[in-house]
Amino acid sequence: MPELPEVETVRRGLEQRFVGRLIEHVEVGRERTVRRTSRLAVIDGLTGVTATAAQRRGKYLICPLDSGDSMMIHLRMSGRVLIDPVSSPRPLHTHVVLHLAGPEAEELRFVDPRTFGEVVVYDPDNASVEMPELGRLGIDPITDGLSRSQLAALVGGRSRQLKALLLDQSIIAGIGNIYADETLHAARLRHDRLSNSLRPVEVTRLHQAIHDTLNAAIAAGGSTLKDTQYVDIGGQGGWFQVSHRVYDREDQSCLTCGRAVIRRVIAAGRSTCFCPRCQK
Ligand SMILES: [Zn+2]
Repeated sequence: MPELPEVETVRRGLEQRFVGRLIEHVEVGRERTVRRTSRLAVIDGLTGVTATAAQRRGKYLICPLDSGDSMMIHLRMSGRVLIDPVSSPRPLHTHVVLHLAGPEAEELRFVDPRTFGEVVVYDPDNASVEMPELGRLGIDPITDGLSRSQLAALVGGRSRQLKALLLDQSIIAGIGNIYADETLHAARLRHDRLSNSLRPVEVTRLHQAIHDTLNAAIAAGGSTLKDTQYVDIGGQGGWFQVSHRVYDREDQSCLTCGRAVIRRVIAAGRSTCFCPRCQK
């Protein structure tokens, strides 16, 4: 599932190649992708309008439109946003197509084999009703910045296992399974440490690890795993997966200490990889 670095990479692509281009017409194939409203609402809401910005909160992409509405895209498990020449064959599972004005005949395609993803047009003044989950998102470490003192308050104010805390989108928005495991390894902290047991120096390490891990992953264009669909807007995969130190490395030797084997357990209901020697 795409996480903050992958969604941020798509956001940057939208900023470069989608913002400012008139949407001339709209096709919606599978209705499940627009299930929150309707096929007609998405076609009416996007035809003849132009996105004025590309923003991201957690894993949500948000494009304010010159009509006053906003478009939200969530990739969920397998969604992809592509901008392709009109002349190129559409991939299987292309559910929404936005024809874009411009010197090149291009279209934005929302492709989603598993159909958990969504495209929504909503009124930002009524977001609490139309997109209520946006109001429940916690601090986005990249969009909002996340200071050490904010993190200290978030971890010290509750007794939660660190893995569960990092995955909780209402506390910190955007981190999923890959970046939770990589962040905790970089911070040398175990997934099951209770958040309010961290010493100040450990909070500092966790703070640094969140920013370092996410920024390195964004710089690498995110992670493209062998079993996922994630690519950027031009169809290119990311390469941060070659820098993973624990994620999906069960039974392999630890790249950090070289003296222990990566273990896999279930924590917070999710597969969790860690080094028992490096992480305490
Ligand atoms: Zn190790």
